[in-house]
Amino acid sequence: MSNLETKPEEVDLADPSTGSGPSVSSGFEILEPRDVPLGGPRAMSVRRTLPQRARSLIGAWCFVDHYGPDIVATSGGMTVPPHPHTGLQTVSWLFAGEIEHRDSVGSHAIVRPGELNLMTAGRGIQHSEVSLPQTTVLHGAQLWIALPDATRNVEPFFENFVPTPFEFSGATIRVFLGALLGHLSTARTFSRVVGAQLDLPAGTTLELPVDPQFEHGILVDDGAPTVSGHPVAKSELAYVAPGASTITVASGDVPVRALLIGGEPLGEQIVMWWNFIGRSHEEIVEFRRTWQADVIADGDDNGTFGRVRGYDGSALPAPELPNVRLRPRD
Ligand code: MN
Repeated sequence: MSNLETKPEEVDLADPSTGSGPSVSSGFEILEPRDVPLGGPRAMSVRRTLPQRARSLIGAWCFVDHYGPDIVATSGGMTVPPHPHTGLQTVSWLFAGEIEHRDSVGSHAIVRPGELNLMTAGRGIQHSEVSLPQTTVLHGAQLWIALPDATRNVEPFFENFVPTPFEFSGATIRVFLGALLGHLSTARTFSRVVGAQLDLPAGTTLELPVDPQFEHGILVDDGAPTVSGHPVAKSELAYVAPGASTITVASGDVPVRALLIGGEPLGEQIVMWWNFIGRSHEEIVEFRRTWQADVIADGDDNGTFGRVRGYDGSALPAPELPNVRLRPRD
């Protein structure tokens, strides 16, 4: 989905290993969500745990929005007009409901629960997302992965991947990105990352072997688990620093559903504003200028962001830039 804030904050994302991040001496942090409305009169809101002041990145993962279960009759569901992205991949992951995706490389896909829909924006793409009329409950997550500098200008493309669930240590696991326990996703990544859904029945302790070079996040969708011995509430994102070779998730009295994200620390500074990721203020200004020109031209097959076909409505103009220079934190 889009970052639909009308006044998006400048977010300068520094690699936490450069020392600008919070202390991770304990190797564990709880990242608490903040509510962000998606705009419109009956709009649903999302719970955002990345980025935030305390932490900007987990591996190359740079954006975590969690939403629902959302009663569409009350909230109005999801209607996100065509909007651009640069320098990132979007991961759409649903627990309930269906969303129609259209983009400017000609993809027209239905996003369904348990299926990865991965859009690589690269040098620039635009897409729309609309919950289908028969969807009564919408529930899922929207995640972004920053592309490394060397590959961030690749041509945009879109992939679908349906992981086969498997049982391990009493849990059901779906590996939708990267590799875990010998299960591989075929979706393309540009840095070493992992993404998986974990489902634990009540009374289950999952001892999950993980890559000790990775840092990890566990987003709790449902239940009241402990992660490495720490209680984690719904919509909180538990952070586990590099160095851990096992992450222990215990469900306790009720079942748990969670998402695992992780990756090798990116080791780069990025500048993130609205739906763009770049490396400098000037680059973000240029992305915005180019997008606004495309919006005024009502989409241009030869433009940077191409054209979304089949969406009934106008594209989303970019908000105003803040009156401060966007620059990476150092
Ligand atoms: Mn989007």
